[in-house]
Amino acid sequence: MTPALQSYDHVIVALSGGKDSVAALLTIMECGVPPERIELWHHDVDGKGTGFMDWPSTAPYVRALAEELSLPCYFSWRDGGIMREMLRDGTPTAPVSFETPEGLMHKGGHGPVGTRLRFPQVSGNLAVRWCSASAKIDVAALALRGQERFFGKKTLFITGERAEESPGRARYPVFEAHRTDLRNNPRKPRLVDHWRPVHQWTETQVWKCLQRHALTPALPYFLGFSRLSCQFCIFMSADQAATLRLISPARFDKFARYETEFGCTIKRSMPLHALADRGRPFAATVAQPELVSRALSSQWAGSIREANWILPAGAFCGGVDPV
Ligand code: SF4
Repeated sequence: MTPALQSYDHVIVALSGGKDSVAALLTIMECGVPPERIELWHHDVDGKGTGFMDWPSTAPYVRALAEELSLPCYFSWRDGGIMREMLRDGTPTAPVSFETPEGLMHKGGHGPVGTRLRFPQVSGNLAVRWCSASAKIDVAALALRGQERFFGKKTLFITGERAEESPGRARYPVFEAHRTDLRNNPRKPRLVDHWRPVHQWTETQVWKCLQRHALTPALPYFLGFSRLSCQFCIFMSADQAATLRLISPARFDKFARYETEFGCTIKRSMPLHALADRGRPFAATVAQPELVSRALSSQWAGSIREANWILPAGAFCGGVDPV
């Protein structure tokens, strides 16, 4: 179903920079949502701190995309990102910071003390696979709850999950009230709907959408990565691990050292180095050292529109989450 898009005052697109969130954005633009009602929200999983989990080129890619489409883009993050949450030792979860039209705001940070000292685990249980909730879902919710401008208004929150990606995502509703919805609050109502416009789409439809708009996909796709997850996503395959060890050896070692320190590996079955030993670096990565440098750069230096659009090497290469 397509909701009555013209009825919303605000249309927020959670833009990770991955192909599915970009396709979701392009879809609502094709549906004629007035651009002045659209805003892009990007959750920086490294919390604007030291590069740890994410591709350095993701944030500048998102900013370049927003600029190309002339849309406002607000970043938000858990202070210190996934690394600070991972190293939590008898402290509360860090506050959230978020950009708004009125400037930077901060919320949270007063929760119960707790200790993690381990990586998010590869599981369908968000309590142990805490990265998505801590660095993305809860960040968005705090940013929505923390802004007066959403009270008394109708807001549509858009994300790019697709059923094809995993059995867990297949169970998500296409349309529902968002977790921050307060439409029935008699004192201070806030209507927030959540729509997943590409939930039923195939990967072919997603790539065709980007091609239709001649929009360059994020660079890791051209290196052979099938998804624009965190660079060091806990769901990494053996081939991805081998590729990451080749192109980011220092960060790879840092992850391996934390596994030893925590006495708990990311994958239950084996440590990271053993996983990388089982894989082979992507041929597209090995063959394109200049593109590797661009993907690992925090400066965007390319075009966002590409007249000679080509399907990246990572297209149709699997990368489906097991949960
Ligand atoms: S992309 Fe992977 S590591 Fe990053 S938040 Fe999602 S599940 Fe966690």
